[in-house]
Amino acid sequence: MNIKSKTPEGSKRFNATFAYLGVGIAILVILFISWLLYLHTVNLLTDNLKNRLRATVTTAAVQFDVHDLNELHVENDYKKPEWNRVVNQLIRIRENNSDIVFAYILRKTEAGDGMEFVADSHSLDPYAKIDLDGNGVIDDSDTLNWPGQEYEDVPAEAFAAYIEPMVNDELYEDQWGILISGYAPIVDNEGQTQAIMVVDMRADDFHKITRQTFLPFLAFIVLLIGIILLLVVGIVHIWRQQIDVLAETDRQKDEVLSIVSHQLATPVSSVKWYLEMLMDGDLGELTKDQKEHVSSMQSIAVNLTDLVSMILDVSRIQLGRMRLEKQELDLDVLFKEILEVIEPKALEKKIKFVKNMPKKMPKAILDRRYTRMTIENLLSNAIKYTPTNGSVHLNVAVNNGIIVCSVEDTGMGIPKDDQAKIFGRMYRASNVRNSVDGNGFGLYIAKGAIEEQGGKIWFESEEGNGTKFHINLPLKG
Ligand code: ADP
Repeated sequence: MNIKSKTPEGSKRFNATFAYLGVGIAILVILFISWLLYLHTVNLLTDNLKNRLRATVTTAAVQFDVHDLNELHVENDYKKPEWNRVVNQLIRIRENNSDIVFAYILRKTEAGDGMEFVADSHSLDPYAKIDLDGNGVIDDSDTLNWPGQEYEDVPAEAFAAYIEPMVNDELYEDQWGILISGYAPIVDNEGQTQAIMVVDMRADDFHKITRQTFLPFLAFIVLLIGIILLLVVGIVHIWRQQIDVLAETDRQKDEVLSIVSHQLATPVSSVKWYLEMLMDGDLGELTKDQKEHVSSMQSIAVNLTDLVSMILDVSRIQLGRMRLEKQELDLDVLFKEILEVIEPKALEKKIKFVKNMPKKMPKAILDRRYTRMTIENLLSNAIKYTPTNGSVHLNVAVNNGIIVCSVEDTGMGIPKDDQAKIFGRMYRASNVRNSVDGNGFGLYIAKGAIEEQGGKIWFESEEGNGTKFHINLPLKG
């Protein structure tokens, strides 16, 4: 049944899924932002490290006498005093900064496509056996360097440093740990680069700092996510409990509605029947006065019957058990009967009632009671909610097998905030709730009746200016 409202069970499942989905997305966003922040922090720290290294290597490069360097070309030059001076200077540079692992000087080979050592801070005696990498054994990786020794795998930064100081873009890891290298030109009096100063700096600390910065942050984020999850699970739990309570209340309301209406239907019919007997004189002739009273009681009983059948309809729609009895319908007769009820009401309230309908309408196959009830309800609402001297227009046409009907009034209109809920069960707009009698059943049943027969019902309205209801209903619903 398409008009049956969304069940609380359904909305519970939907809302919980929605909540978990929202939390999932929020967690992903938080993780993504944390990752970006981490990268940003690492970049800042790397920049800082590089700047420090560039300053260190540039300062070191100006401490050498180019004449000394020019004396160191071949292996045996390590015996010259210039070698001692240069290497001792390199040792001082290394010892002044505990982060510097290697300090050495390179120059381009004669061919210009490679590089060779000029001097190295570890090679005061290039043939000494020392455990250079501190791994406990003296092996090939501990070889020292002498003047003119080829430097293998020259990084591009070393050549570029002939022009200006350079620093590796990325940290790298080898047997001496995580390192970063800086290169700076050593220039002669003419401003020509004669060699380059290289400093390899330890960056293990840098890694430690990055982790130290990031780990508390990560812990905080994980804690935050945990708190959010707990909150959401708690809220969803409370929410579900509330929905369970609402669902139970709703079910009980339907049950009461259904029981009450069924229990009322029979006694009201009996009352009507007895009143008819009274009126017909079956229980003795009535005086004129008595007849008038019985007649009033009859119209009260009719209203009561209508109300009971409406409650019954509402509970049927609610339970998805609306029963249509389709039959051949003469629309001319149907509208005639409706107008016989409506026109006197309009006249009584001094409302101008204008109808615009075809002279002859085709036959339809529809549920007589529901179709009549819907159109009559729209018309009596239009009269009910339109002040005296207002007007109501009824337009009916049959196009392509569809009854196109509209009821337009110049009445109170429906406030914007109420419009979305106006077809809801027992819903009444705020502008009529305390001023005009009603129960809010009519439009709910109308929507059920029209949609169940394959039609559509909708409206336009402006508070204070009037309302126009539309119905499109297939002739063979
Ligand atoms: P009732 O008229 O008994 O309150 P209905 O279900 O027929 O119940 O209508 C629901 C609500 O829709 C009304 O209470 C009223 O607020 C609004 N309404 C319906 N028709 C009109 C209309 N023609 N003009 C203004 N408001 C209307």
